[in-house]
Amino acid sequence: MAPTDKPQTHGPAFAAASFDISENDLMIGGLSVRDVVAGTGTPCFLYDAAAMRRAYRDLETALGGFADIYYSVKANPLPAIVSLFRQEGAGAEIASVGEYRAAIKAGVAAENIIFAGPGKGMAELREVIESGIGEIHIESAEEIARIEAIGRPVKASIRINPVPDAQAGAMRMGGKATAFGFDEEELENVLPLFKDARYIDLVGVHIYGGTQILDADMLVSQWRHGISVAARMAEMLGKPLETIDLGGGLGIPYFAGETPLDLAKVAASIPDLKALLNEHPLIAEAHIIIEPGRFLAGSGGLYVAEVNSVKTSRGTTFVVVDGGMHHHLAASGNLGQIVKRNYPIVAPAMMQAEHEETATIVGPLCTPLDTLARNAALPKLKAGDLIAILQSGAYGASASPVGFLSHPAAKEVLVEDGTFEVIGR
Ligand SMILES: *Cc1c(COP(=O)(O)O)cnc(C)c1O
Repeated sequence: MAPTDKPQTHGPAFAAASFDISENDLMIGGLSVRDVVAGTGTPCFLYDAAAMRRAYRDLETALGGFADIYYSVKANPLPAIVSLFRQEGAGAEIASVGEYRAAIKAGVAAENIIFAGPGKGMAELREVIESGIGEIHIESAEEIARIEAIGRPVKASIRINPVPDAQAGAMRMGGKATAFGFDEEELENVLPLFKDARYIDLVGVHIYGGTQILDADMLVSQWRHGISVAARMAEMLGKPLETIDLGGGLGIPYFAGETPLDLAKVAASIPDLKALLNEHPLIAEAHIIIEPGRFLAGSGGLYVAEVNSVKTSRGTTFVVVDGGMHHHLAASGNLGQIVKRNYPIVAPAMMQAEHEETATIVGPLCTPLDTLARNAALPKLKAGDLIAILQSGAYGASASPVGFLSHPAAKEVLVEDGTFEVIGR
């Protein structure tokens, strides 16, 4: 039986893990989802500020001062979200000048912004260097030449694509051939490229191994590997490093059977990691950076849509809702998912109702790709009822093809302490 042939029932457990439930209502920020969407309309993303702050604080506590947290803006680039993490103490990791502007608008100090990305353009580099930036993470020889041509001093790290045994994650970004950074095995050939650079102050190294890592041991072993690369680089340079960026990629569970990243295990490994740094005098004083996106923003977000119609085709119940892949490509399985599996889904105003049927939830687009869930176990739904997709705070609206079929964008709403506000770009 294909995985999607089984009824998918993990929605209510995921809802209970992240949110309060009051009678029939899924609650967010002290309000019922039903009441919030009565005010905002559907389809919409609802972001629970307290849940996002909690994710940040849990991670910060687990890190025990080992690393500074930079929020990876591409996970959810709304300035209000970036600002929330800035208030918690995060810097910003950006991948475009648009994200730079979002971070500045959110009040992140320029020196707390770092910039990675395989194809940084001249205009982008010029804007961030002239306006101020913490560090640029250099990924090509051309980038070195562009920065030199701009002719203003800037701090930089080398982005390294790690060797295969150090990689992990569902969507691999390191280890095999990639456009991201320089291959680890080329390090000795890369450093000479900086020899004549007059404006680039090479202060560190950046290693990002992979996204959606749920295994704490895997994560920590990547970090250990990153530290060993940093030690090697510092020796080759013959000077201490100021920063070591160990990447993002901390996962959150989405699918039946997945469990959260074990932060207690991460915390337990911190003394060892600190000892490892102290073994190498040239990196012992370096600031460690981690740059998660999904882990910080993902679990605090819901995508809510209203049922438009319910119909049966050759034995399958289709629930057509007013939102779809144009807002939430990842939930439709079209953003790098290999086996199509359901995101956790619930009926947020019927939390006590029996799960009477399994239904395929589809959006309004004229393509079978616009399927939000298959064989989801849900209460019996009718037009006007609500569905909510959980784990939708990261890689949602901004990672979706909103122009396809020309429906309006989803509203995005921040809920905190019993009030809500539509937040825009
Ligand atoms: C996307 C990205 C991140 C964030 O990844 P998550 O899996 O969301 O933590 C961090 N660093 C870089 C360089 C990225 O491209």
